Amino acid sequence: MSGSERYKALKGMHDIMPPDIYLWQRTEGIAREIFSSYGFQEIRPPVVESTGIFTRSIGENTDIVEKEMYTFSDKAGRSISLRPEGTASVVRCYVENNLHTLPAPQKFSYAGPMFRYERPQSGRFRQFYQIGVEAFGSPHPETDAELLSMLRHFLGRLGLRSLHFQVNSIGCPACRPAYREALLGFFSDRIETLCPDCRRRYGQNPLRILDCKVERCVEMRKGAPAVTDYLCQDCRSHFERLCSLLELLGISHTVNPEMVRGLDYYTRTTFEVTSENLGAQNTVAAGGRYDRLVKEFGGPDTPAIGFAIGMERLIDLIKLSAEHRPPAPEVFIATIGEQAVTEGMLLAEKLRISGLWVETGDPVSSLKSQMRRADRLAAGYVLVLGEDEIRSGKIQWKRFADSTQGEIGLSGVCDFILNKA
Ligand code: ATP
Ligand code: MG
Repeated sequence: MSGSERYKALKGMHDIMPPDIYLWQRTEGIAREIFSSYGFQEIRPPVVESTGIFTRSIGENTDIVEKEMYTFSDKAGRSISLRPEGTASVVRCYVENNLHTLPAPQKFSYAGPMFRYERPQSGRFRQFYQIGVEAFGSPHPETDAELLSMLRHFLGRLGLRSLHFQVNSIGCPACRPAYREALLGFFSDRIETLCPDCRRRYGQNPLRILDCKVERCVEMRKGAPAVTDYLCQDCRSHFERLCSLLELLGISHTVNPEMVRGLDYYTRTTFEVTSENLGAQNTVAAGGRYDRLVKEFGGPDTPAIGFAIGMERLIDLIKLSAEHRPPAPEVFIATIGEQAVTEGMLLAEKLRISGLWVETGDPVSSLKSQMRRADRLAAGYVLVLGEDEIRSGKIQWKRFADSTQGEIGLSGVCDFILNKA
């Protein structure tokens, strides 16, 4: 690298830094707390997997597999991919480790970076983070409702209330063929007007046309048959029970028969949570049932359902919803003179062991410049230790919040701060 050249993060990838990092940590902590109260346990799959794991589950004709995967050959010539989503890895882990032998349902959560080679824009990155959950072993609509309720609970704890829940059922292998035929019939006289991708989708997987974002295709699919009119009896009663449970739980929602989602593995329930405050990329969380995927991965027939939350979009919403003050040091110790510097360091260590965030002044700076730094940091308490204080065994304190100040014996300062901070 020549002297004037500077490295930059890759396009579509970003650093998560203070002060935002505090919002991320808080959000992750709340997710952990709430998800575990519903019995979800964390697993941490690797971020790289065999490419087949994703192509097979997400589907060959999806945007993710066709355009967005980071796929490489490793040194042994194996095709490996950075994970574009979490479900495929969790299912692989579930099957590989025979987790179906444990009592059902088994419920897992995950959190971490995902990678998609997309056109970067607001709310759309090439490395982004998701928090997600997957529940294995329950075919019941009660599980779908519980998952949606947990999602609402989580979003509510973050102070986000004006979110829109959309639900749909995309049927099962028993009823989807009839719906597929109906779609083919509907689009047959307008294939030429669809985008090139959708023309291909027509032959391969016409349901994907409903997920296309090209304006022309959105226009052309107005009046298309609704999947909810083609559900078999079992899928219909599952969906009706889910909708009535959502009513009971007070989760207001709309049924959107166009919401087929961008991945092939879904069966029956699909859902999305959207916000009007996010602009074009307005989906903050999405998920659905995937009752056939475990079997496709070589496991026993195991129904399952999950969702993933887009962290960047969630953090944007949290930032819009309220003032967030980043945390500040609880104590700043300003010191003048070598002996005070030593005393200050010992005191700082004592307070840190008790759990406080303590900063100390630069040992060779003037008191004035140390005080300026304490002010900039918005430290809760400033303690001043100089030669006079060492001699008299007292320390000066000043409280940032109300500018009150006073003096306290050196031996009692720890208790004094711990009782107040
Ligand atoms: P979209 O329609 O926005 O492309 P998707 O259907 O591809 O979404 P999912 O695979 O369902 O998204 O992922 C779940 C959530 O992860 C999305 O609702 C969104 O919040 C987030 N997400 C997906 N792709 C990105 C991305 N490239 N950058 C940031 N967040 C993303
Ligand atoms: Mg996408």
